[in-house]
Amino acid sequence: MIALLLVAVAVGLAWPAPRLMARAQVFRRSPRAALFAWQAVTLSAILAALAAAPAIAPMVLFDGQAVWQHFMILALAAAVSGIMLARLLIAGHSIGRRMRVLRHRHREVVDIIALDHEPDSRVRVLDHPDPTAYCLPGRDSRVVVSQGVLAHMSPRAFQAVLAHEGAHLAARHDLLVEFFSVIHETVPAPLRCSAAMREVRLLIEALADRAAVARVGPEATTAALLTLAGSRAPEAAMAAGVGATATRVELIRQARPRPLLSAVMYVYAVGLMALPLVLLAKAWSAL
Ligand SMILES: [Zn+2]
Repeated sequence: MIALLLVAVAVGLAWPAPRLMARAQVFRRSPRAALFAWQAVTLSAILAALAAAPAIAPMVLFDGQAVWQHFMILALAAAVSGIMLARLLIAGHSIGRRMRVLRHRHREVVDIIALDHEPDSRVRVLDHPDPTAYCLPGRDSRVVVSQGVLAHMSPRAFQAVLAHEGAHLAARHDLLVEFFSVIHETVPAPLRCSAAMREVRLLIEALADRAAVARVGPEATTAALLTLAGSRAPEAAMAAGVGATATRVELIRQARPRPLLSAVMYVYAVGLMALPLVLLAKAWSAL
């Protein structure tokens, strides 16, 4: 039965798939394609879960004699799909709102306590000796650095920090993090995969690191990362120092265009997304 197959696909993409993908380090070699694949596996799991009820519907609607036998199955499938949808909407609303409120408050505080800044600049410098750097995404975005960054970094390394944060802001990486956080909360707790969240965050950092490398080269970017290693940033911000510094430095060292590998990842991603849709179409065309 196709509905059961869809449920199996949903569980498979929600449980073993993210765990295997988080362990397969090959994805780190092409962070952009890898992030697309991560979005695909996530969306496909949701689609499969939501499609379970619609896949049973034709059987119930058009198989007149067996309506009552199938009715209970349909009710169960509709409950599963409905609960998933409700959890998705609730998590989406609460996480999105919380992030925006936190960022807004933080931006106000930063604008008050920051040292003098150039007019029209979104960069704010905080009077603190420890090197730290992060950005506050949104419509009125900020790049926040401590004086420790200016004191401990060469101008080129500082440019790497600005390029890294600029890449987060330009590509709205915060929305990507928000998307994965929402899904993470939507998935029932026993199915959640923290390794997947960590991996996605690492890929996003690797992507921003690549933007910095493109601007100032690998040496200055690596120097910036090493200076920021171990720094802390507020919850709603995107920080330059998060993630395992050693891993990111190694990824910068290995970074080169890998068109074939990227193409394979894109095909894998599109295939994943097509799977629940094909199954749903099959359920309706089998009438
Ligand atoms: Zn970052």
